[in-house]
Amino acid sequence: MKAASVVRPSIVQIEDRPIPKIGPSDVLVKMRACGVCGTDIEKVRGLHITPPMLGHEVVGEIAEIGEQVKGFEVGERVFVHHHVPCYVCHYCRRGDYTVCNSFVQTTIEPCGFAEYFRVPRTNVERGAILKLPSNISYEEGALIEPTACCIRGLSKSRIRPGDDFVVIGCGPMGLTHIRLLTIFGAGRIFGTDVVGFRLEAAKKLGASAVLNPRSEDVVEQVREQTSGRGADGVIVSVGAPEAILQAIDLVRKGGMVVLFGAPSRGAMLSYDVSKIFLKEISLIPSYSTSELETNVALELMASGRLGLSSIITHTFRLEDTAEAIRCAAEAKASLKVIVKSG
Ligand SMILES: [Zn+2]
Ligand SMILES: [Zn+2]
Repeated sequence: MKAASVVRPSIVQIEDRPIPKIGPSDVLVKMRACGVCGTDIEKVRGLHITPPMLGHEVVGEIAEIGEQVKGFEVGERVFVHHHVPCYVCHYCRRGDYTVCNSFVQTTIEPCGFAEYFRVPRTNVERGAILKLPSNISYEEGALIEPTACCIRGLSKSRIRPGDDFVVIGCGPMGLTHIRLLTIFGAGRIFGTDVVGFRLEAAKKLGASAVLNPRSEDVVEQVREQTSGRGADGVIVSVGAPEAILQAIDLVRKGGMVVLFGAPSRGAMLSYDVSKIFLKEISLIPSYSTSELETNVALELMASGRLGLSSIITHTFRLEDTAEAIRCAAEAKASLKVIVKSG
């Protein structure tokens, strides 16, 4: 079968490798669609801070089931979680599932950009396989995991109805946040980006105002439109550390800054931290997601209320995974890029 791998920094190759063999408690899935995540781009560049496996926004069709697995059938359409928490450790008991030691140790084999992948027993037993309702296409299904990541971040922000939010960066994740903010009942939603077509997409998905920091003073504009306070919450949906500093200037006293975009390894900041103290700003990092939020994402999608399919701008064949990742990285005219198979 074909599977993508990073052979050295910046070089993604399609390799021929055997279809993974499954154990009695594993499941084999035939990949049908897998989204390209910002973290995949970092993995290809060799600057990632998350586990190196490529492709985790993955859906497919069950191809084979271990004899001890119950509740699934060959041919069923499914979404699969690559990481699962243990649900019993100190972190899990306090709700911090994505920092559970077991979380990053669990994974699918070989990766999401492969014709087939094995879902190991731990993932199968801990609810990592979700059945896709027939009204969710494979392409849309690839949006479940990234949507769930955003739901988790927004839940951590303790958003209240009517809260004003700024979303820094209107790439696929920023746009997903904007759409979800409308569903969560936000007040004004400001989207910022330096790319015009992304700002247009932000407007279509529910941003009340869009701002381009190259031509506008974003902090001044947001203050002006929030009675001088600043936003109740700011989502930093890019990895650039400077965006965190801007978020601190954009948020009101007592507000929340959600650190959503994964920074590159070693990214540094220098800042007068007394401002954070005096303004009582909460900095809330949100890394990845668990099946608690993916179930919510799937239900929202199945109900037809999510309305995010328009962010899928490009699809590529598995053979062209390198091109797909390049297309997502260049971001010239792309939003969400999806790799398809079979
Ligand atoms: Zn992702
Ligand atoms: Zn745990």
